[in-house]
Amino acid sequence: MEKREQIYEGKAKKVFATDDPSLCIVSYKDDATAFNGLKKGTISGKGVVNNRMSNRLMQLLSQDAGIPTHFVKELSDRDTLVKRVRIVPLEVIVRNVAAGSFSKRFGVPEGTDLLCPTIEFCYKNDELGDPMVNEYHIYACGWATREQVRSITDYAFRVNSYLSDFFLARGIILVDFKLEFGTLDDGTIVLADEISPDTCRFWDSATREKLDKDRFRRDLGGVEEAYGEMMKRVFG
Ligand code: UDP
Repeated sequence: MEKREQIYEGKAKKVFATDDPSLCIVSYKDDATAFNGLKKGTISGKGVVNNRMSNRLMQLLSQDAGIPTHFVKELSDRDTLVKRVRIVPLEVIVRNVAAGSFSKRFGVPEGTDLLCPTIEFCYKNDELGDPMVNEYHIYACGWATREQVRSITDYAFRVNSYLSDFFLARGIILVDFKLEFGTLDDGTIVLADEISPDTCRFWDSATREKLDKDRFRRDLGGVEEAYGEMMKRVFG
């Protein structure tokens, strides 16, 4: 399968059409942004880590947890063939431990274990700064149907329980993460976008060292090393 015209260029990925209208090719870059694009940089080798890790995790989620995903085939270190979907304009965030915007918004110190996993939805809109919304906002604005939100919520918690166990077995606490979903032509929901150190918070379970994009966001240093370490934990 070959790349045809570029359909889209985002902050961390480019998307290309293929000869098959139901498939496209995602190409992962080393570019990194944070704080709604205010902070920019590159993380050398990040595209390879995110592409390979995301593909591995989606394969496992599909085989072992019955989660439908957009993944079709890894084409190279940076390029992956995926199903062409219509992205639901929501960022779906699942949390196990308080961190980031949750800590700031609710005054819960970073690192506090939550009594149960939580889910929140943000409307994907850079100009508005991805505001948090509730389910009624989603139905009122037509971003997704009730049935689609039911599937998204069910899949998001199942992804959380599968990946929390997967990472804990590798010495990593899955603190929180963001998912995006897409719809196929018949409205069916599938997991899309990526699952990587750009979109998850990973803490070493022994030292609680941060092994994710927070090293870039907060200028902690050792960014490339953290991505490399997560690659080792996933692929052994
Ligand atoms: N996240 C993301 N993209 C976003 C916002 C958040 O991938 O645009 C991820 C982030 O990496 C973290 C989780 O979602 O794993 C929760 O992020 P939070 O709401 O705490 O926001 P942040 O502190 O990253 O601004």
